[in-house]
Amino acid sequence: MRTTTPSFNRRALATQAMQAAAATRAKAKLDQVGPICIYGLCETLGVAVRFNNINMEGMYQRGIPPRIHLSARRPLPRRAYNCAHELGHHVFGHGSSIDELREDAKAQPWEDPKEFLADTFAGFVLMPIIGLRRAFSVRGWTPETVTPAQMFTIACEFGVGYATLLTHLSAGVNMLSRGRAAALHRVTPKSLRMHILGALTPEPLIVTDRHRAAPTLDAEVKTLLLLPRGTEVAGDGGLAFERDLEGGRLFRAVKPGIFQAAAGDWAVFVRIAPIQKNEPYGYIGLAQYRHLEEDPDE
Ligand SMILES: [Zn+2]
Repeated sequence: MRTTTPSFNRRALATQAMQAAAATRAKAKLDQVGPICIYGLCETLGVAVRFNNINMEGMYQRGIPPRIHLSARRPLPRRAYNCAHELGHHVFGHGSSIDELREDAKAQPWEDPKEFLADTFAGFVLMPIIGLRRAFSVRGWTPETVTPAQMFTIACEFGVGYATLLTHLSAGVNMLSRGRAAALHRVTPKSLRMHILGALTPEPLIVTDRHRAAPTLDAEVKTLLLLPRGTEVAGDGGLAFERDLEGGRLFRAVKPGIFQAAAGDWAVFVRIAPIQKNEPYGYIGLAQYRHLEEDPDE
């Protein structure tokens, strides 16, 4: 007989995943607060990460070295989340496995305790509870009352998707009621971009305000970046000025490399990865080389 009751204790597994996430950050000498670069964390732990042109979410390959393969066809925040999920399989000593395509966050294969562990680990390692509390409080916001655009700003700070943040806040750390999460879930990324930019655009958008503490920000060519008002960009043309908006200064990532953006005492290094021309996928290769400037002789 089929039953909808899970055959494992979710609360106990979630606690285990939260502790493993904290231990993993500690092992890599990262604090338990700030947003992290998941690829940097994997590199520190000796796990090789590669982006491939494969239609899946991700894959963990046990071995020496252990390897994570990610689909370059998924949006950047999704790639980071998938990387954290596969790192969860590694940390828990799971065997090699493939995570096939998941079209939406609700379709999580949580009937499998290993998948539940990996997903919960991913949430906690990318979005530690103290870091989330800090992100809301420094802005004078609360999860229950923020607008969708404000919630999106927090998601961008942690490098995750809007829906991923909502799921973690409500189901993972109990900082958001189910009702409010459901209401916020109804806002689509497309309508969010329309609202923030005042125009319809198919390009991905990253919103950053002056409270963002992380020293780096990952983008790829074509990504739109809404940076604080008055932001100036150093270097030769990696970020092209688009226009000034109510909420900040809009730039477009136009070439790979690392470029500093600064506004007064606020600054960030924007790391831009290349994309494939006329193809629906991004950078292919090892994660550690994703921001190298293109070979001028190519
Ligand atoms: Zn998995």
